[in-house]
Amino acid sequence: MPPVAKVEPITTARALRGPFDYLRPDGVGVGSVLVVPFGHRDVVGVVVALAETSELADDRLVAPRRVLDHDLPPELVELAGWMAAEYCSTPARALSLVSPPPGARAKLAWWATPAATAAAAAASDAGEGEGDKARPLSERQRALLDGLREHGARAAGSDLPALRRLAGRGLVTLERRTVRRYVSHEAVGARRVQPPPLTPDQLRVLGEVELELGRAAPEPLLLHGVTGSGKTEIYLRAAATALDHGRGVIVLVPEIGLTPQIVSRFADRFGDTVAVLHSKLSAGERHDEWSRLRSGAARVCIGPRSAVFAPIELLGLIVLDEEHDASYKHEGDPRYDARHVAARRAQQAGALLLAGSATPRPESVHRLRRVRLRHRVDAQAMPPVQIVDMRETAGALHPDTSHALVDASKSIVLLNRRGWSNFVDCRSCGHAWMCPQCDVALVLHRSRAQLSCHHCGHRERVPARCTQCGSVSVARHGAGTERLEHDLTQIGHEVFRLDADVADAGAVLRRFEQARRGILVGTQMVAKGHDFPDVTLAVVVDADGTLRFPDFRAEERTFALVTQLAGRAGRGPAGGRVLVQTLSPDAPSISAAARHDADGFLEGELMRREALRYPPFSHLIRIVVSAPELAAMREAAQAVRVQLGAIETAQVLGPAPLFRLRGRERAQLVIKAGDRAGAVRAAGAAVDAVAADRRRRGVAYSVDVDPQ
Ligand SMILES: [Zn+2]
Ligand SMILES: [Zn+2]
Repeated sequence: MPPVAKVEPITTARALRGPFDYLRPDGVGVGSVLVVPFGHRDVVGVVVALAETSELADDRLVAPRRVLDHDLPPELVELAGWMAAEYCSTPARALSLVSPPPGARAKLAWWATPAATAAAAAASDAGEGEGDKARPLSERQRALLDGLREHGARAAGSDLPALRRLAGRGLVTLERRTVRRYVSHEAVGARRVQPPPLTPDQLRVLGEVELELGRAAPEPLLLHGVTGSGKTEIYLRAAATALDHGRGVIVLVPEIGLTPQIVSRFADRFGDTVAVLHSKLSAGERHDEWSRLRSGAARVCIGPRSAVFAPIELLGLIVLDEEHDASYKHEGDPRYDARHVAARRAQQAGALLLAGSATPRPESVHRLRRVRLRHRVDAQAMPPVQIVDMRETAGALHPDTSHALVDASKSIVLLNRRGWSNFVDCRSCGHAWMCPQCDVALVLHRSRAQLSCHHCGHRERVPARCTQCGSVSVARHGAGTERLEHDLTQIGHEVFRLDADVADAGAVLRRFEQARRGILVGTQMVAKGHDFPDVTLAVVVDADGTLRFPDFRAEERTFALVTQLAGRAGRGPAGGRVLVQTLSPDAPSISAAARHDADGFLEGELMRREALRYPPFSHLIRIVVSAPELAAMREAAQAVRVQLGAIETAQVLGPAPLFRLRGRERAQLVIKAGDRAGAVRAAGAAVDAVAADRRRRGVAYSVDVDPQ
């Protein structure tokens, strides 16, 4: 083995570019995790390559301090290198994402085994131990020993003192062993260990999936299935096939707290070979689940976007459930998109990428081969959708909506705004309460008696009088989920609220599931893949809410939100209906969603994007420049613009001002490029050149490739 290990220290410093050379200890290879001396301190680093020689002089080549227990599969080291380049980040930051969970170790506990020697057996049968011949065993000691002999070894637990005395007499052996911290899976819905029979639709799709699973280099598939068409059963069957082939499986889901159903279905079907990785686990649980995957004890990993880095070797399948969901985009550095990384990882491993959604993104429809599930498994019709024109209505709910809510025993109401009201001002002088750190209005949260900023978390007390003119007449504009919850209690049913202000989303969903009557009201969280068969009415209160964002994905998001919410209604024998309140009844996304016309929507949207050169017909890169001082920020943003110059096959837009955020003035530049790799390199070089000028201290730059 080559004597030099090239090590990338895991640091966040952008200027520091490794790898650095160290002496390679025995047994260390690509993917090993080491503690190395670095400058005046010790840092953790990952071996990214081995080499025969080093440019360092022999006496400067030092050995690592120690080798850590966990190592990474070499594929993940390669994936991190690719990510660093693809997202204009550093290898160290990309490696920190794929590295073993920090700060936890295996849990050790005392373990007792009955001594197996004949002497011990004979001695104890005679009621005597070896070291303490005179005294017979106490009743308790006898019971412990008999239990151990009958059931075998076990953790000592609170019996440790008694077991120590038995060990002292040579009757029991005590040793330290690793014990696993079990993750409990919440059981949701009926437990079904036996797979249900497939519909002809599902059989056809499964045939296509299995054909790809049998290939050495499978073609990625997009499973476009209407809500309730049984996509999860396809994932389960595909996973079973991959496991039969001796391959591992990753299942990516948007948010594990909101989709416990899929975890429990996988755990029911595949048992202990299923591991979960998500942020709600304790450090110890995460360590143990990661270790089970790394050792091969677990072969299926379920989790949100970061589970794409699960240390599974011989990967055969990556499932991407609800592929349209915005949570797949990571907002830290590197700003990776788990969908894009999953495609790369699948290709690297010769695994099948199976992306599924009822509302796939236009990009995915354009890039992936599509297989369809056009019908619900129970042959139920899609619920009729009625557009409710709100242009003549004051208040949050149309009278028709209120009547429908009174009649329905169970309904779901979506309003994509938290809080009580989204804008507070003074009736006398017009003073509006804004965030002191960000140029946005503060949102009233009445239950907390606070005004809060939804961008930076700033909070202040609700004002009793105007700070400018002293008037006590303060007006509240607009309605959020908190206000709507209050209004809906007038309907007479129990109301359950689900939004980011609720501490335990799972508990709210369980209570709603168990209630005989009720209204579930909340933000887009209520539209995620929940399956409540007794919900007969779904209402979108302000379908234009997502349309008003100045973003080329506004139409796509609105279509997905309305369609996903509609999919929550009428999943049982009682059928269902959907009401969509809107100020723009003719918006293509809303009318297409009302007709359940995904094909029509996708076709129109792709034509629009092609005309405007938006993804998938170009690649976008967004550079945000920020600084505490407006002048410094503007100067730096302009300098980036100059550095970008004229990139071939690309168009550069901006700098355009953004609202002040967390006390920092901001502007953005957007690159629309045909050649992605070239534009990413140009953006990185431009930012590095501008950032290198020390006079621009306090200015920060963020590069977002494929912004969402
Ligand atoms: Zn005032
Ligand atoms: Zn703020």
